[in-house]
Amino acid sequence: MKGRLTILGTSSAIPTKDRNHAAIYLQFGGEAFLFDCGEGTQRQIQKAGLSFFKIDKIFITHLHGDHVLGLPGLLQTLDFHDKTYIEIYGTQGLKRLVELATTQCFYINTEDMTIQVREIPTTDEPYLVCKGDNYTVKSVGLNHSVPCLGYAFEEKEKFKYDKAKVKQLGLKALNFKELEETGKTSVGGKTYSKEDLGYFQKGFKFVYITDTYLTPNMFKLTEGGADFVVIESTYFDENETAKEKKHLSFDLFRKEIYPIFKRQGVKKIILTHFSRRYKDLTPFEEAIKKYQMEEVYLAHDLMSFEF
Ligand SMILES: [Zn+2]
Ligand SMILES: [Zn+2]
Repeated sequence: MKGRLTILGTSSAIPTKDRNHAAIYLQFGGEAFLFDCGEGTQRQIQKAGLSFFKIDKIFITHLHGDHVLGLPGLLQTLDFHDKTYIEIYGTQGLKRLVELATTQCFYINTEDMTIQVREIPTTDEPYLVCKGDNYTVKSVGLNHSVPCLGYAFEEKEKFKYDKAKVKQLGLKALNFKELEETGKTSVGGKTYSKEDLGYFQKGFKFVYITDTYLTPNMFKLTEGGADFVVIESTYFDENETAKEKKHLSFDLFRKEIYPIFKRQGVKKIILTHFSRRYKDLTPFEEAIKKYQMEEVYLAHDLMSFEF
């Protein structure tokens, strides 16, 4: 197992007794990343049996309450737990929010805990937000009533040597050293490039798209496919409220988004951010069956996927 994706909250605007505000916990190797931090996220993390302490990076889509109201509380807890460093990414205004929270709601001594806040521009082309040893996080601007970011977390691709070719050519340690350093090597009077001897294997990819109305930008994050896409489906029918409030409906998802995701090679699609008007999701379930939509899941709080 490489990691686990846990959906901590699945409600839009107002939480319900069954649905918490938005947050997603991505455990990847020994690290953890939090996407959004709605009210109640701390308790959801505990209910899911996950660790606060492992979170080193938080990615906020936008500053609407259902995506950030849990952030001040979580930062306070991390400070109580003697966490010394955390990075938070989000849209313009995030710095002010964190500064007010950490000086007015409670006080964090910056010598004890460094909070690195980076405000990310909403761009039409994928923007490199940050990178680690074996992953990158990119964003694009979405189509919401305030600046809003979609995110793609992607593991770096790995080069796999073709074992049969390696054996046939009798490659030695020196050849591999040359290939890693210069990208080519010579055997039996012939020169081979790295690409001649194997292929790049795609890494794990997770894409998070909320809150937004339809925008071509979202497909730039899913280009080349993805293992998981978590995308909002606030409403069932396409209606005026959806368009006005800039949210997606299941209808629009089915007609305009699902076919493109399938073409791009998206494996699992998880719908979330449901309006509280849907006490149960039967209409969504029935439509998924009726239209034979494959690998489309309706999120519930604490739903998790191993990968
Ligand atoms: Zn929202
Ligand atoms: Zn919103």
